[in-house]
Amino acid sequence: MNAVRRNVAAPFMNTKPISFGVNWARKSALWPMTFGLACCAIEMIATGAGRFDIDRFGAGVFRPSPRQSDLIIIAGTVTLKMGPVVRRVYEQMPEPKWAIAMGACASTGGPFDSYSTMQGVDRCIPVDVYIPGCPPRPEALLYGLMRLQDIIMREAPSAYIFESDGSVHRQQSLDDNPEAEPVNESAAPALL
Ligand code: SF4
Repeated sequence: MNAVRRNVAAPFMNTKPISFGVNWARKSALWPMTFGLACCAIEMIATGAGRFDIDRFGAGVFRPSPRQSDLIIIAGTVTLKMGPVVRRVYEQMPEPKWAIAMGACASTGGPFDSYSTMQGVDRCIPVDVYIPGCPPRPEALLYGLMRLQDIIMREAPSAYIFESDGSVHRQQSLDDNPEAEPVNESAAPALL
């Protein structure tokens, strides 16, 4: 079954019209997880309000459950105690899924070089886009969202192939050599 997925389904999905349609649908209907940790979350909330209107990008449907979300925006300071919770929420999101680290704290720990602060959320989940600022303005979040949409348009739709053992095989982009064996990436790095 795995061979059929890799050798028949994956090349078909990666043909130009199919990949364009799938990626366009994915990037145009990102459903973010409702998840704010600190002051940056206020800017994220403002991005959803009428003045900035994140709905223009198809990403305004904030969901209360990770099982209905495909984007997690880490907006705020991540403490070491919160790390396992962030990881668990991320793992409960179905594939394909993406992550944005919003603000200096989520990206690098920000001003809190302390015993209790995780120095970047990429120590517990994989991050696709980092947004600098303390806090970043809503325009910065929208810019980061557009960059994520660019990334999604370059992905191979077959990137998320589940093997019978439950592992995920991801090809990085449509530019990859289709003959190459897919890279076996774990869904998330080890929790540091
Ligand atoms: S980056 Fe600045 S605004 Fe954002 S959570 Fe950290 S301290 Fe607050």
